[in-house]
Parts: sequence; structure tokens; C-alpha cells
Amino acid sequence: MSKSTGFDQTTVAPGKARKNRKSRYKPRGRQPSTRATEEIKQIFAGKALQKDLLIEHLHRLQDEFGFLGKDHLAALADLMHLSLSEVYEVATFYHNFRVFDSAEDAPRLTVKICDSLSCSLNGSASLAQELAETYGGGSVKVTHGACMGRCDRGPIVRIENLYIPHADPSRAKHAIDQALTGEIPALAELDHVSYADYCERGGFHKLNDLYAGKLETDDVIASIEESEHRGLGGAGFPHAMKLNSVLSIPGPRLMAVNADESEPGTFKDRYYMNSNPYQFLEGLLIAAELVDAETIYIFLRDEYPDTAHLLKTALSTIEIADLTNGRKIELRRGAGAYICGEESAMLESIEGKRALPRQKPPFPAHVGLFGRPTLINNVETLFWLPEILAKGADWYKQGGTNDGQGFRTFSLSGHVKTPGVYKVPAGITAQELIDTYGGGMKEGHTFRAYLPGGASGGMLPASMADIPLDFGTLEKYGCFIGSAAVIVLSDQDDLKEACRNVMRFFEDESCGQCTPCRVGTTKALALMARPSWDQPLLLELSDVMRDASICGLGQAAPNALLCLMKYFPEELS
Ligand code: SF4
Repeated sequence: MSKSTGFDQTTVAPGKARKNRKSRYKPRGRQPSTRATEEIKQIFAGKALQKDLLIEHLHRLQDEFGFLGKDHLAALADLMHLSLSEVYEVATFYHNFRVFDSAEDAPRLTVKICDSLSCSLNGSASLAQELAETYGGGSVKVTHGACMGRCDRGPIVRIENLYIPHADPSRAKHAIDQALTGEIPALAELDHVSYADYCERGGFHKLNDLYAGKLETDDVIASIEESEHRGLGGAGFPHAMKLNSVLSIPGPRLMAVNADESEPGTFKDRYYMNSNPYQFLEGLLIAAELVDAETIYIFLRDEYPDTAHLLKTALSTIEIADLTNGRKIELRRGAGAYICGEESAMLESIEGKRALPRQKPPFPAHVGLFGRPTLINNVETLFWLPEILAKGADWYKQGGTNDGQGFRTFSLSGHVKTPGVYKVPAGITAQELIDTYGGGMKEGHTFRAYLPGGASGGMLPASMADIPLDFGTLEKYGCFIGSAAVIVLSDQDDLKEACRNVMRFFEDESCGQCTPCRVGTTKALALMARPSWDQPLLLELSDVMRDASICGLGQAAPNALLCLMKYFPEELS
């Protein structure tokens, strides 16, 4: 006799019992409204919906509505078969996306004032304060912006796609008031070397020689090696070595061009793309041919809308001229994140994700975009290629001075008379750069200090302005040339405040992935805000950031601070 266990042991086929119950399923999280779903379907009708296009689609949405509504984000997530959290985390990662609940919460206009070091030396803080007092609390949001790549003409005010150089309160207010009435001037046409002029000067000859087999891949790479040409985005990696590294992995291969220069003080790539886009594109196609890249992605700063406009025209011109050898070239729009200057973070962004740097190895040359071997180049690196092939390896190699090899393009800003972009011999000193190209110091300013490589390259006193500026020459002083952005400070500048400015920038731009950088930058800023700096503690903190951060941002963030403690002890006594 079986003993009762006290509960019903009748077996039921799996799933049957549910028929007798009311469904308890309720969708979780925010659900899109019918209206948002319809709007999204209409906007993206016929468009590709793969995940890597997420950032492009977010831009499309923001361009249409002026902000990213949460309802629309939910509808876009549905349409792209992504989770809302994925879409939301991307939309809120990048500075240039504005996420709001609804149109009622979104400002009518967002005005950004660049507060990076070069703009701040030109009075951006007081300008921001005046604009905030005039418009604060109303329908205009006045906020700070990171470097906008126009450091020779600061302070810069950004109103949507309009950038006001040398902004003063009256011009900025006039532009804001006009924008509120819907009047935002169209993008100005850029004065550049046209396709016809470029061809007339011998442009695309080397590319066509390569296509025709008159130039062999191995010979071209050997010539690049002989010229000692390096990557000019900041790291200075030997270019030929990079090409060979990509070639060592079987295809299909890809290529990604980093046109996202965001290092404060840097604006040289913008100059090259704006003034001679076809030379840049010839260099890009030569490099793509060398590694047989299937598709080329150009990742361009969102802060360069005029450049984007020009490049779109130039890309269609070379397509019509049949110069791409069947390669697809995609122009991808960045969304405002300094960290995209780090190559693997840029790849993540092109894949439609948050720009979190990858752990290396594997290196992108082997496992890069979409897991494929990927050649990553910066704009200036590519710009030099046609010229090196046309004029020869020796011409380039012997272009330097003070034992430097080749040429460098400096973005010069700060308190010099004529800031701007200067193509000069590698190995030039800061003093020569200021005197010969920068027109000397501005009236009433005495040279005090300089940052040789933007915000991350450290800071040196004027008494050390005779060091040749090149890869490898500054490291022993705790500095580096990076993207060759020289920012000049004078006796009228507060050097401690300059270091705080730089640290604030890194705190703002840290991707947050690793603790030494995310927390370290915040802690350092708090310590630097004190009237008296605890130098042993700042040194210890800097050591941790340098030793344990995943990428160059966290490792270089304390450079200016360390230089201040080392070379300017009088500032801290
Ligand atoms: Fe991100 Fe900073 Fe870590 Fe780089 S160092 S991965 S930016 S948190």
C-alpha cells in the first residue's frame, strides 16, 4: 500500500498546465509607443539595419528630431533586434548624443563652449559664464565641450553644426539668437585643391602605377621602410612594419582610417582633409591596395561637418573616376569621444558599440575590425604616401633637422602671434617653431612653458625649448611628441590651473572601463583642487595610473602634473 505524501503527485506533461492559467508574461522595460514604432519604421525604411550601423542611425534620429527620445530608442532597438540596454548605453556613452524623455524635456538649442587648454587660454571660461548667465535656465542649454579641433582660433563656440571662431560674447549671442529663429548658416564651402588640379599636378599616378603592376607591392613597402615613415597619429609606429604585420595574416582584410583627432591642441588632419582631400584619398587607396583591404572605413570626427561634406563629394568623384579598384569606402561619423583616438576603441565604435579600448594582444593588425586583420592609419600618415613614392624615400628621410628623420606637421596654439598648422622638418625645437613659424610670442607675453604633445604629452619649461621635437627625443624628460600639438604658455598663465584643465579633460574622457583611470583621474583632480598639493600622494597615484591603466589615456593622464612637480617646483612651494 502506498503511503500518501500529502500532495498531488499526478504528472502533467510539460507546458500543459499553463493552458489553464492566464499568461503572466509582461514585457519588461520601456516599450515603444505605436507612434514611435511607426516613425522609426518610416525613417529607416529600406535602410540596412545591422548592428554596426547603430551610431549612424542614432545620428540620423538626432538630426531629425534634435535629440534622442527614449521612446524612439526603444523603437529603434526593436527594429534593429538589439536590447534596449545596448542601444541606451551607446546613446549615452558619446558626448554628442542628447537623450531625453520627450521633446518637452529637450532644450531648443545646445550651445557648447570649448574648454580645452588652448581655448581656455583665450578666455573660454569667462565667455561660458556670460552665456550661461544670459541663457541659463531657459530653452538654451549652455554647456562645456571638449576640444573641437580649431585650437588656433579659440575660443570656439559650437551651435549645432556652426562653429564660431575667436568667439566673443556679442558674436556668440547674435549667433544664438539667430539660431533660435531657425537661422543657422549653411556649411561654408572649403577652399581646396580640386580633383582636376590634383590630377594636373601628377595626382593618382602612383596609385595607377600600382594598379597597373608598374609598381610592385614589395617594392613600395621597401621604399616606405627606407624612408623611415612612421604613423603620425601619435604612437609613431614604423609604417612599413605595420603594413607587413597586416599582410602576415591571410585575408580578407579591412582598413580603418582614424580621422578622429581629438587630442587637445591637434588640428592638422583637419587641415589636410580640408585643403587637399584627393592627396589623402590617394594615400588611402595606395595603402588599401598594399594590404588588399576589401573595405575601407573612414572614421571622421563629428566636429568636422564641413570636412564630411567635402569628403563625400571627393569619394563620389573618385568612385566615378574608377579609382577605387572595386573597394567599398564607408565614411563613418564619430559621436564625440576622445578615446576613439585609441585604435581599438575606434574599432569598437565602428562596430556600433561603446568605445572601450580592447585588451591587447591580439593587435588589430591581426584581429581587428569584425575580427579581421585590419590596417589602421591616421590621415597624415596616408597623406604623405603619394609624395614619398613620387619624390623618393631619400627625399623624405632627409627632410629632418637636428637628427630628425622626415617631416612633421605641428598644430601650434597658445600665446603665439600666428598659431596654425606648420609642415616642418622633424627634429625642429619648440623655440624654432615659435620664432620661425609662430611669429614669436603674443604682445605682452613672455614664453614660460609648452606642452609638446597636446594634453597627454607632458609639459616643459621654456628653458628646455631647445630639445628636438620628434619620436623618442622627449621620453627621457617624461614627455612625448604624440600628435605634434604644441601649446605655448606664457608668464601670464596659471600653470597649476593648466594642469587641472588637462586632468579634467581626461576625467571627462575616461571610458570608465578600468579603475586606475576612472577613479585615478577623479582623485587626482580632488587633490589638485587643494590649495597645497600633497605631492607624495599625487606621485603614488600617478604611478598606479601609469602602471595599471588599460590604455594610453589613463597612462598619460598624469604627465602634465608630473612635469609640473618636476620642472616647476616654485609653483608648488
Ligand atoms: Fe578606459 Fe581609461 Fe582604462 Fe583607457 S585607461 S580603458 S580610457 S578607463
